[in-house]
Amino acid sequence: MAEPKENVLMEKIVSLCKRRGFIFQSSEIYGGINGFWDYGPLGAELKRNVKELWWNTMTRQRDDVAGLEATIIMHPQIWKASGHVDTFSDPMVDCKTCKGRFRADQTNEIPCPQKPSKMVSECHGEKTAPRAFNLMFQTYVGPVRDESAIAYLRPETAQAIFAQFKNVLETSRQRVPFGIAQVGKAFRNEVTPRNFTFRSREFEQMELEFFIKPDEVVEAICGRVATAAEAFGVPPSGSPEPAKAGTPNSQPLGSAKRSGDGSTLNPQPNWGWEAWHKYWVEERIKFYEGIGLPRTTLEEYWQKPEELAHYARACVDILFKFPFGTQELEGIAARSDFDLSQHERFSGKPMGVFDEELRTAWAKLPKEKSDDLWRRYYENRKKYLFKMGVAEEAAARDAAEDANGLAKGQYIPHVIEPSAGVDRLILALITNAYSEVAETDNKGKTDTRVILKFHPRVAPVKAGVMPLLKNKPELVKKAMEVRDRLRPWMNVFYDDAGSIGRRYARQDEAGTPFCVTIDFDTLGEKPELKDTVTVRFRDDGRQERIAIGELLNWLLPKVR
Ligand code: ATP
Repeated sequence: MAEPKENVLMEKIVSLCKRRGFIFQSSEIYGGINGFWDYGPLGAELKRNVKELWWNTMTRQRDDVAGLEATIIMHPQIWKASGHVDTFSDPMVDCKTCKGRFRADQTNEIPCPQKPSKMVSECHGEKTAPRAFNLMFQTYVGPVRDESAIAYLRPETAQAIFAQFKNVLETSRQRVPFGIAQVGKAFRNEVTPRNFTFRSREFEQMELEFFIKPDEVVEAICGRVATAAEAFGVPPSGSPEPAKAGTPNSQPLGSAKRSGDGSTLNPQPNWGWEAWHKYWVEERIKFYEGIGLPRTTLEEYWQKPEELAHYARACVDILFKFPFGTQELEGIAARSDFDLSQHERFSGKPMGVFDEELRTAWAKLPKEKSDDLWRRYYENRKKYLFKMGVAEEAAARDAAEDANGLAKGQYIPHVIEPSAGVDRLILALITNAYSEVAETDNKGKTDTRVILKFHPRVAPVKAGVMPLLKNKPELVKKAMEVRDRLRPWMNVFYDDAGSIGRRYARQDEAGTPFCVTIDFDTLGEKPELKDTVTVRFRDDGRQERIAIGELLNWLLPKVR
C-alpha cells in the first residue's frame, strides 16, 4: 500500500534534517533516547536566529516589555501554586497484550519504533483503566534524597516570570500595562513523544506575560472599556461565535482587519482584556508572517468555553499545517489574575501594584459607579478564592479586602500570555521552506534536488561566498576579502570545493538565500566590472552584479 503523501514528506524532512545537520537524534550512537533531539550546525544557527528575532521583536523593539532569564530548577512551591504538582498530568493506559504505555486519548496510533516520524496502528489489546501521569521531571536538590529535597525541572518558563514579577517591576521602572519576556528550556515527561520534534520531552519556549489592568480599573480611569470590536473596527475573528456542533471552532486567518487597512494596532488606555488579547493574537501572527510563514499556512483556533482552563477568559491557539495535521504552534491565553493571585497566597508576599491614576480617578467617581465597580471586582475575587478551596466566609472577607484596595489605587494585574514553542516553530519553518525541483542534465538524466526557501531573516547562512575557481590565488584572495567584510555582520559560508553549480546546489539545500561569486570580471577582466561580484538568488537562480563596496548595505536590510 502506498504511504500517505504527508508521511512521505515528513520522512524526507527528517532525513534532510539529519543529512544536512539540522536535527539529529540525541545520543544517537547509543541508539537514541525517545523524545530528545539535538540541533546540528545548521539547526543551531536557525534556532538562534528564531529566538533572537522573537527576543528583538518582543522586548528590544518595544518600550513596554522587559526580559528575564531565570533558572530551570526553582522552589518547588512554585509548582504547587501554579497547579502543576496537582493537575499537570495526562491520562495514561497500559496495554495488557503488547505491554506498551500510551496516552489514553492517543491509543489509535503510536510512533513507529524504527522511524519515530511515522505513525503506525497500535495493537488492539485490552487496556488498563486510565491513570493520571504527572508530566513534570522530578529531581533532588542537595545530597539527601528525601521528600524535602524534591524539585522539578520547569515544565514551562512562565512561572518564573510571575515569581519575579515584583523584582522586574521595581527594577525596570515599568508600569502596568507592561510585559516580561523569557526564552528557555522546558521539560515535560510526555507519555508518547511523537512527530519528530513536535512533541519532545526537552524543548524550548518563548513566552511573554503581558500584565494589564483589570477591566474594573480601566473603567474607573477611562469611564468605560473599549470592546475588541471598537479597538479593531471588527468583531474579534472566530470569537465569541461558538463553533457549530461537530466542527472545529477554527478558521483560516485573514478575516480580521489589520493595520494598514484601516484598523489600528496602537494600544489605548481604554483597552480591557479582550482588546489586549486580540492585539497579541494579531501581533503574533504578524511575527510569523515576518519570518516567512504565510497566513495561508496558519489557523486561529478559539477554544470553546468548555475547553478553557477555569481561570482563563479566552485562549487562541495558532495552528500550523504540519504534514501530520494542523497542530498548535503557540497558545495565546487571557489568564485573568490567577497566576499572581496564586503566588500571593502561597508565598504570602503581596503581588498587587499601586496605581496613582486609579486612586485619583476613584475619588472622583459617583458613588453609584464606584459601588458597581467595587461589587464586580469583589465578585471576581470571591469566585477565584472559592474555586481555590477557600471557605466561603473567608473568601468573601478576603475579596472585600481586595475590592477595598481599589480606592487606595491597589489591584492585582491580569495577564495575557502568548506562549510559543521554539522547536515546533523550527519544524514549521523547515516544512514550509521545503521544496523540490526536478532537473534534467545534458545526458537526459533527471534528478530531484531540494531547496529550502527560508526567509532570509531566519536562514542559517545568509550568504555563500565562493571564488569561481579554487586554483586561482587572485580569485581566492579576493573571495576571502569579501567573506571577511561580511562576517562581522552575518553568518557567511566560504566554499571553494567542486563546480560552482554543485556549490550553489549545496547552499540551496541549506537554505542560503544569496550566493556571492568572485570571478575574473571581479579582478578587472572587463574593466567596467572590476570589484563587482555576482549575487545569485536561491529561489529563482537570478543573478545580479553588485559592487563589493555596496554589497554589505545591499544584503543587510534583506537578512535582518
Ligand atoms: P499540546 O496541547 O500540544 O501538548 P500545550 O497546550 O500543552 O501543547 P502549552 O502548555 O500551551 O502547550 O505550551 C506552549 C507552547 O509550548 C506550545 O504551543 C508548544 O509550541 C510548546 N510545547 C508544549 N509542549 C511541547 C512539547 N512536548 N514539545 C515541543 N513543544 C512543546
